Amino acid sequence: MARYTDSVCKLCRREGMKLFLKGERCYSTKCAIDKHNYPPGSHGNIRRRGKVSDYGRQLREKQKARRVYGVYERQFRRYFRQALKVKGLTGATLLQLLEQRLDNVVFRLGFASSRSQARQLVTHGHFDVNGQKVDIVSYSVKLGDVIQARESSRSKGYFKELAEPLAKHVPPQWLSLDAAALSGSMVALPGRSDIDIPINEQLIVEFYSR
Ligand code: SF4
Repeated sequence: MARYTDSVCKLCRREGMKLFLKGERCYSTKCAIDKHNYPPGSHGNIRRRGKVSDYGRQLREKQKARRVYGVYERQFRRYFRQALKVKGLTGATLLQLLEQRLDNVVFRLGFASSRSQARQLVTHGHFDVNGQKVDIVSYSVKLGDVIQARESSRSKGYFKELAEPLAKHVPPQWLSLDAAALSGSMVALPGRSDIDIPINEQLIVEFYSR
């Protein structure tokens, strides 16, 4: 399956907003969108898009969500189908399913500065879930699951240096963090109000309901 290898900052510029794909850099003056917030390829000539159709808005919202969570189209559609089967608001359920991904939980717990870094840490086998090594980024974390940096990883430079920033990290209220033990658990399901991403999930529902 093809991977996206171009600059991820272009994705933010395409969506016209910060998607926070690069960790620390996104909060610094180096952020590309702070410097030139116009779509890639337009060289500053076309600073704003023209009138956008309903379809265009729905598509952009779906793409934005996919890019934030780093999920391929086919996977994303699968999450949508899964959300459709759950009673309640499909859009909110879709975001909840995305939040429950192991890479996202590792990021939310503060073990990584971006979801892409979290993905890398997970695929390199640095985490246990309930005492068992899990290296599948899409693993769906469940209520009560405990995520911990593996014993063999804890002595590594990366995790040693993490101790200081992690001690100051405040995870969302649906997660609990034990910074000293490099571990965290899911204490509640993420509700819509817990998800701070500016995504209009209703437009995504409309996109797939056409
Ligand atoms: Fe987006 Fe971060 Fe790049 Fe800024 S630095 S454009 S927020 S990925």
